[in-house]
Amino acid sequence: MDTTTFLKKTIGGVTQVEPALTPPTSSQTPFVKKQKLGASKSKKREIPEGLWTKCPSCSTMIFDKELDNNLQICPKCEHHFPIGSRERIHSLVETCSFEEMDAEMISVDILQFKGVATYRSKLDSYKKKSTLKDAVVTGIGKMGQHTVALGVMDFNFLGGSMGSVVGEKLTRLIERGTEGGWPVIIISTSGGARMYEGMFSLMQMAKTSAALAYHAQNRLPYISILVNPDYAGVMASYASLGDLILAEPKAMIGFAGPRVIKDTTQAELPPGFQTSEFLLDHGLIDAIVPRKEMKEQLVKYLDYFAAGKKHVNT
Ligand SMILES: [Zn+2]
Repeated sequence: MDTTTFLKKTIGGVTQVEPALTPPTSSQTPFVKKQKLGASKSKKREIPEGLWTKCPSCSTMIFDKELDNNLQICPKCEHHFPIGSRERIHSLVETCSFEEMDAEMISVDILQFKGVATYRSKLDSYKKKSTLKDAVVTGIGKMGQHTVALGVMDFNFLGGSMGSVVGEKLTRLIERGTEGGWPVIIISTSGGARMYEGMFSLMQMAKTSAALAYHAQNRLPYISILVNPDYAGVMASYASLGDLILAEPKAMIGFAGPRVIKDTTQAELPPGFQTSEFLLDHGLIDAIVPRKEMKEQLVKYLDYFAAGKKHVNT
C-alpha cells in the first residue's frame, strides 16, 4: 500500500513539473529555453497546411511537390500513394498522343436514388471535387510504337465505383480497340459496382466482359493492371479477365473485403492476405510492376505480343 501511494506521488510530482516546460508562461523557466520554444512554434506556423504529406508506411513527412514529381511514390520507402487518372495517363503514353473518347458522357440518376444524400447531389459534389465527369478516362494513345486503347479508373470519383458510364465508356473503348486491331489496357481501382444505380451498375459486369470476349476472339491482347484498392464487381468482371494481369506493389485486391471474409469463415486470415504479393504467390496475377517501371514494362509486353502476332500471320 505504502509503496504504491509513494509511486503515485512521485509520478504525480513529475507530471506536475513537466507541463511547466511547454507553455512559455512561467517566469521560472530559463530565458534560453523560452526562446527555443517560441522559435519552433513560429516555424510551425510558417508552414501552410496541405504542403506536406505523411507517408502511412514509413511516417516520413514528404513535401507534396516532391510527391508530384515522383509519381506519388514515397522517395524513402516506395509506398505508392493514389494517383489521379490524368497524371497516370501522362506518365504512360507518348507526349500529346492521347485522344480522349466520350469525355462528355455523364451519369443519369435513373432510379432517382435518395439515401442520406441524393445520387444527383453526390454526382455534383464529386464532379466539382475531382474535376472529372465520372470514374474512368478512356482514349487511344501511343506507347512506344504501339497504338493502344487505354482506360484508366480514378478512385477520387465516388470511390472509382462502376456505374453505367464507367461500363459504357470501357465497352466503347474495348470495341474501338477490337475495330482498330489494337491491344486494350485497363487500369482499375474501385470499390465495386455503384449501388446508386442498382442493377444498372451490375449489368456493366456482363457488358464489359462480353466486349472483352469478342476482343479475345479477334486474337487481340488485353492487359489488366490492378492498383490499390481494387474490389468487388470490378474485380469480378473486366479487371480479372486480362491475358496478362499486372499489379502495383502492395495493392489490396479482392472480391469481398478481408473483414467480411473473416467474419463469414470465422477463420484467421493468412498474413499478407489480398495484397498483390500474396496474389502473385497464389497465381492470380502475373507480375508486380512498380509505377515508375510501368511504361517501360508495358512497351516490352506490347513488343512481345506484336512479335507473336507477326509470327502467327506469317
Ligand atoms: Zn514512405
